[in-house]
Amino acid sequence: TVGAVVRDANGRFAVACSTGGSAPSLLGRVGDTPVIGSGFYAADDGAVAVTGIGEHIVRKLLAYTVYGWIAGGMPAQEAADKGVALFPDDIDVGVIALGREDAGMASNREMPCAQVAA
Ligand code: ASP
Repeated sequence: TVGAVVRDANGRFAVACSTGGSAPSLLGRVGDTPVIGSGFYAADDGAVAVTGIGEHIVRKLLAYTVYGWIAGGMPAQEAADKGVALFPDDIDVGVIALGREDAGMASNREMPCAQVAA
């Protein structure tokens, strides 16, 4: 997955993600990446993008879950860490999250991440 979370000059949040899927997979498989609330979510209080093993991520609606914590006042880094901690160590998962005041990223595997501010 390639994911991006942004906030524009007017304070609006957006998220985008793209995936190569997983292999091997069943014909017609839909992972987490294209499912709102699973692989991505953005609304008034933040934006979240997720990567990892989609079959596990969709069951926890991970992007929406992390967003909900941020919307409730949790710092983005704490929310990202808490999201990854929902999964056992052998299930790859990564989260990038943006709140009104902060950003966070967490994963249980080495996953390249870049933070850019303008
Ligand atoms: N999250 C994707 C899926 O399970 C795989 C990936 O791009 O990391 O479909």
